[in-house]
Formats: sequence, C-alpha cells, structure tokens
Amino acid sequence: MVPKYKRILLKLSGEALMGDKSFGFDTGVIAQYAKDIKSIVELGVQVAIVIGGGNIYRGMNEAETGIERAHGDYMGMLATVINGMAMQAGLEKIGVYTRLQSAIKMEQIAEPYIRRRAIRHVEKGRVVIFGAGTGNPYFTTDTAGSLRAIEINAEVILKGTRVDGIYTADPEKDASAEKFDTITFQECITRNLKVMDMTAFTLCMENQLPIIVFDMNKPGNLMRVVRGEKVGTLVK
Ligand code: UDP
Repeated sequence: MVPKYKRILLKLSGEALMGDKSFGFDTGVIAQYAKDIKSIVELGVQVAIVIGGGNIYRGMNEAETGIERAHGDYMGMLATVINGMAMQAGLEKIGVYTRLQSAIKMEQIAEPYIRRRAIRHVEKGRVVIFGAGTGNPYFTTDTAGSLRAIEINAEVILKGTRVDGIYTADPEKDASAEKFDTITFQECITRNLKVMDMTAFTLCMENQLPIIVFDMNKPGNLMRVVRGEKVGTLVK
C-alpha cells in the first residue's frame, strides 16, 4: 500500500485531547491518537505534529482573566508544550520514535526549533512534535501548523478535529448543513467559512498548501486520509 502523501503535518487541537473532560487531556484519547499515528509511520509516512493548547489555556480572553493578552499568549504557548510532552509519552510508549522541538527555548525538555534538524528527524522516521506554537503572541497553533508545514515542505496539513469536515453551516446548529468533499480556498472566503483563522488560512492559500479537515476521534481515519480516501473535506 503506497500512501498518497509522503510527508504530512498533523494539526491537533488541544480541545480534542480533552475527550469528554472539561480540562486537560484524556489519556485514552492520547493513546488512540498515538496508535493512529503509529499506523501511518509504519506505512512510511513522514509525520510532524503541532498541538494546540486550548484544553489548558487560551491567551485571548483578557477581559475574563485580567491577564494581559501577550502574557496570556505565552502561557498558552507553554500549554502546547505540556500537550506535546503528553503526546510524546503516548507515542514512545508504543515504540514510536519522537522528538519535541520548542519555539521557546527549554533545553531540558525539548530541542530548540531548527528547521533543517526537524526535516532530518522526519526523514529518519521520527515523529517531530512542534511545541510552543510560533513562539510569538497574537498567533495561534493553526498558524504554527501552517508555517511549519510550509517550512518542512509537507504536502498537506491534516487538521484533526471533532467534526468530520467543512459544512455549509454549523452542523451542530443547522440540520440542513451539507458537507463539502472538496472546496477551494476562494470559495471558503466567499462563503465566509472558518476553516482556520485568517493568518493560518492565508499562509496555506498563498503557498498552495492543501488542508484536509477530518474527524481525528474516529480510529483509523488518519490512515484513510493518508491513503487518499474520501474522508473529511479537502481545501485546495
Ligand atoms: N499561542 C500563541 N502563539 C502561537 C500559538 C499559540 O500565542 O504561535 C497561544 C494563544 O494564546 C492560544 C494558545 O496559545 O490561545 C493555545 O493555542 P490555540 O488556541 O491555537 O490552541 P487550540 O485551539 O488548537 O487548542
């Protein structure tokens, strides 16, 4: 079985790691993700991962927390490192080699982000987890995912979420919402569909990096996506 993609960047939201919890992460979800990731590594796919931090901390709600936005954003970036370490532990437990690279230096637990080194790791079959987002406040981990994907020449960014694709309207609110199998970047803009935040989305569009939005919580879905099966929505 030859995968459709040789090198991918998997973007996982922090919230997805929570499972049914209201904070933090669910070890069952991490174990399932690790298993799915292992299966595609065994197929020969080179995998890099960016994980969000929304399950632990989001910097944006200054009004609620009383914490200045930039300060809170750094806290959010640290949250992504905790998630990255959890994912790393989950992967290594089942025999997948990993490296965690952080955009904010913390030498005792992660390598610093070095582009050429990250590429070397994935070429050797190691899963590289990029922590601390872009290292800058006022950005999101979706932007970090798009940026890193472009930097390491990933062929596609796989946005693993709790929904199975992009719909004409919010499927949780509108029963008549229909799912797109494929959609263009331009159509997303025209229809005002929020696939990622604008910074992340624009980076992908300008660099012709396709995005696949799919349900990561369904075991086996990641494998279906890399095989090129019709899963989720492809934005190109
Ligand atoms: N963040 C940031 N710069 C980045 C990436 C993340 O400041 O490059 C902060 C920001 O506060 C964000 C938080 O980290 O709210 C967690 O990331 P995000 O909200 O993207 O996580 P997700 O929604 O995917 O769980």
